[in-house]
Amino acid sequence: MNGISSISYVNNNIKRKNVSQPCFRAETEANIDTLELNNKKEEDPYKYHKYGLYTVAGLSVVGLAAGFLVKGMHKKVEQLYKEKLVISNLPESIKFEAAKTLDEAKNFAKNILGIKHVDDNFTLEALNYANKSIVDVSNVNKGKLYIPSALKYNSLEENTLAYVDANVRSKSFGELVINKDYFEDDFLSKCISKHLKDKNGKNLFAKSKDDEYICLGRVNELRPIFLKELTPIMDKYYANPQLLSLEEKLTLKKTIADMFHQSKIEANPNLWLKRCEKIIKDNNYILSLDEYQTKKTNKERAEYLKQVIKTLREECNHPISITIRKGSPEKTIYHEMGHLQDFGKNLKDIDMKQLETMNLNLIDNRWGGLGYEDCEKIWNKDKEEFKQKFPDLYEFLTNEESQQTAGKISSYAQTGIGEYIAETYALMVDAKLHNGKIADDIIALYKKYNGPMIN
Ligand SMILES: [Zn+2]
Repeated sequence: MNGISSISYVNNNIKRKNVSQPCFRAETEANIDTLELNNKKEEDPYKYHKYGLYTVAGLSVVGLAAGFLVKGMHKKVEQLYKEKLVISNLPESIKFEAAKTLDEAKNFAKNILGIKHVDDNFTLEALNYANKSIVDVSNVNKGKLYIPSALKYNSLEENTLAYVDANVRSKSFGELVINKDYFEDDFLSKCISKHLKDKNGKNLFAKSKDDEYICLGRVNELRPIFLKELTPIMDKYYANPQLLSLEEKLTLKKTIADMFHQSKIEANPNLWLKRCEKIIKDNNYILSLDEYQTKKTNKERAEYLKQVIKTLREECNHPISITIRKGSPEKTIYHEMGHLQDFGKNLKDIDMKQLETMNLNLIDNRWGGLGYEDCEKIWNKDKEEFKQKFPDLYEFLTNEESQQTAGKISSYAQTGIGEYIAETYALMVDAKLHNGKIADDIIALYKKYNGPMIN
């Protein structure tokens, strides 16, 4: 769904990862920062597992059996809420200061944030990062929010900074897992250098007279420009990568990920049309708006626009640039916290309302998406079957208006309702912290799906 991004200067397609679990934020290597629903099969901690949400999904049940299953499911949801989804009552405003020792950071997570379990193997920097991000989310919610049941620190073997375990069957439901690889120098340095230097070590960005860093190649036909706010980090990086702090490396990594996301014209071609209009006119290149209008789907429009941009570049020698802001690694945690709030707010309602109907794909219908293996398989195989199984998700994926709204945030927000909620939530937290504004249609769509609000 997200397609394959290519960065032209490396002259090879960034291969889509071979998804073994239905749990990826995005398919380009550069922008997978968030791991999703961790649906891998594991031993179930609940003795009535067989009657739980997922197993039930595969069965065709009638009569007495149905009653028994409903009972099991109720019990399951009850336990889930009792143990895992408890709204916290933290101070309205928490002041965060980076801890100086690991013990201090652990105490903060446990005693101030109320996280029951914190892994022992955390590094100070990683735990400070997690704590700070959670504090941000807590503060915008004035202390009333769903807090992860545990903070884990594992090597995820994925290009993923963090994920929240959203598998309701699992005893680790509601845990926030941080990828320890990200806090190891080697991994981060490799990820960054892949996009900032070529194979021979030559810089792939050059400093302009305006002190911005301009990409010498293209990403999806566009020429990325790193805004001035990134110049100090880029200066340091190109002087000597070893000079960067871990925080600066994380920032660069996130910035590169954002660059790939934002360069996707197919996410919102109408928005790209607006951005390009003036340049198109200035260069006397006639874009046929009539022809553009005949393209009915986002995909067709994006294809048309890409051709226009290509022509501008090749014939008018006028590449279209895209400015890239400094990435914020905290946003990954905001996104994950968004999933948790969404579950807290909506899981119970949906279960209770729909239990009787035995609409057994209701979880995927609401929280599945095209980054999830099971959903994606059906989507690729048979759209009608997909529509039957996941009617709401199908509507979201095929409604061009919803897709354009979601595309204003990111291409990932387009892949499913749950991802749209989490992406918007991250945006809302960030906007609240930095007095940002969010477009009305984004909020309207968010409300349609009952996204968790921030007051
Ligand atoms: Zn997500």
